[in-house]
Amino acid sequence: MKIRAQVGMVLNLDKCIGCHTCSVTCKNVWTSRPGVEYAWFNNVETKPGIGYPKEWENQDKWNGGWIRKADGSIVPRQGGKWQLLMKIFANPNLPQIDDYYEPFTFDYDHLQSAPEMQHAPTARPRSLITGKRMEKIVWGPNWEEILGGEFSKRSKDKNFDDIQKDIYGQFENTFMMYLPRLCEHCLNPACVASCPSGSIYKREEDGIVLIDQDKCRGWRMCVSGCPYKKIYYNWKSGKAEKCIFCYPRIEAGQPTVCSETCVGRIRYLGVLLYDADRIQEAASVEHDKDLYQAQLDIFLDPNDPKVIAQARLDGIPDNWMDAARNSPVYKMAVEWKVALPLHPEYRTLPMVWYVPPLSPITAAANAGHVGTNGEIPDVNQLRIPVKYLANLLTAGDTAPVVRALERMLAMRAYQRSKHVDREANHAAI
Ligand code: SF4
Ligand code: SF4
Repeated sequence: MKIRAQVGMVLNLDKCIGCHTCSVTCKNVWTSRPGVEYAWFNNVETKPGIGYPKEWENQDKWNGGWIRKADGSIVPRQGGKWQLLMKIFANPNLPQIDDYYEPFTFDYDHLQSAPEMQHAPTARPRSLITGKRMEKIVWGPNWEEILGGEFSKRSKDKNFDDIQKDIYGQFENTFMMYLPRLCEHCLNPACVASCPSGSIYKREEDGIVLIDQDKCRGWRMCVSGCPYKKIYYNWKSGKAEKCIFCYPRIEAGQPTVCSETCVGRIRYLGVLLYDADRIQEAASVEHDKDLYQAQLDIFLDPNDPKVIAQARLDGIPDNWMDAARNSPVYKMAVEWKVALPLHPEYRTLPMVWYVPPLSPITAAANAGHVGTNGEIPDVNQLRIPVKYLANLLTAGDTAPVVRALERMLAMRAYQRSKHVDREANHAAI
């Protein structure tokens, strides 16, 4: 057994309001520079949706992550390093700027400098790449949410209900949720494996994945190799860049910028201890649906005396052991199992975990079916289908999702019954 420490993050999707404050503050700190205008180390996606970049989850298209061979070994889906080297001059798996979006600002000067006219001047979009005015913005992150154009285009010959059905299927069965995304700082990172120059590395002390800017030669194999599409090419410096988990802040004992500024307070940071000798075993289990459990099995109990003794031998400092013992990530992901990994079937062992959203149907909540009155909750009364969440979080296995949702519902029922008791006591007084 070789014990290593890993910083991780849990995001409680039940509380995300899709305000994008996390993305904007991250951008202000890390990517408000020429060359990475289009890059969002943190972005918040509307799901179900195409995502950013478009269709990032379609690994048949981008060839990211790992695949398991018949002999039980795993290899980067793109092939070995020599194949990667041959692809350097013609990599077909790279997202283009249109897959992200053409970054734009608005021509605010026009509001002040426009000549007198009949109508109030408007701030037209201007490309941050060419500097030219854009006739219209044709694509951007969260486009699914901005269906105004689609509505007006279709409304010529259809009524509102038909348009809704066209776009969503049946209106009454619609659902949506927000999915904030950042680099997963994976335990088995495909980006590291795909870099021919060895410039990407996982820090020994805390597991943060970084790109050595001096060594990077801009080959971009990591961009296609990362199944989460969380590496961006800086067209000005000619180097690849990614989320650095705000490591200068972590080293100073501060939270990441996205966590500190999150309006919904949905983000929890913490330390996990794991057995580094079992990474390959966990990443190469035969069936995709077993990957979540295999990933869980490599984490160690920070209160176990044997683990504490071995961790000392392996050089884990005492303050990290304290952090592991008090880690909300350990509690939510490993102990309580209410937080689940994103697409474990990519076999990178991602270290950003998600509490699935409850999203109750109001009528069901009012009728007490989702724990409002302390009654036994029912996951089938939730709006987001369990199967959809399972495809996102547990490679299609619905059992862990149901377990997480039922625990959340039970907690909600308990908290609300306490609240009801309190109100009854007040009324009695
Ligand atoms: Fe690498 Fe991050 Fe992508 Fe994982 S999510 S493969 S650590 S860039
Ligand atoms: Fe969601 Fe928090 Fe980001 Fe707002 S700041 S979008 S609540 S994760």
